[in-house]
Amino acid sequence: MPATSSLIKKLAAKFPYLTFSEGAYAHWTPTERVVYYNSNEPHAEWVILHETAHGILDHHTYSRDIELIKLERQAWDYAAETLAPLFGIPIDNEFIEAQLDTYRDWLHIKSTCPSCQSNGIEQTKQQYLCPHCGQTWQTNTGINVGIRRFKQTAVPAAPKIK
Ligand SMILES: [Zn+2]
Ligand SMILES: [Zn+2]
Repeated sequence: MPATSSLIKKLAAKFPYLTFSEGAYAHWTPTERVVYYNSNEPHAEWVILHETAHGILDHHTYSRDIELIKLERQAWDYAAETLAPLFGIPIDNEFIEAQLDTYRDWLHIKSTCPSCQSNGIEQTKQQYLCPHCGQTWQTNTGINVGIRRFKQTAVPAAPKIK
């Protein structure tokens, strides 16, 4: 029996409006209200508390890339300050910062101008403008998706909260 099963049982009892399901990778799906988890990943219990926090806070899709980082921060704060003491599973702060760094790196790459490498401004969802050279570009969404910058119009993939 995986180490996560007793935690999952407790979470399911405490938060009956959420569904917990083993999946290929941990993520929260706001439309189905399902917390997916992968018992085999490193620090699976910390990640489960984080995904559960997305569910309790009822996080939905974000309208700007910068908002995704805010949602991630909120979910980690809630997991560490509220859920971790409740279930006796303290979460290492360095782990949290490393998780948030992946989003910061992702945002940095997406917001870098493909023409002159200046830092762009996100004007509307996924639409960036370079204040230095005037280049506009569009990016794809979802941290699991390889980052691409399109100079022309492209259809963005569905956003994901991980
Ligand atoms: Zn530029
Ligand atoms: Zn998250």
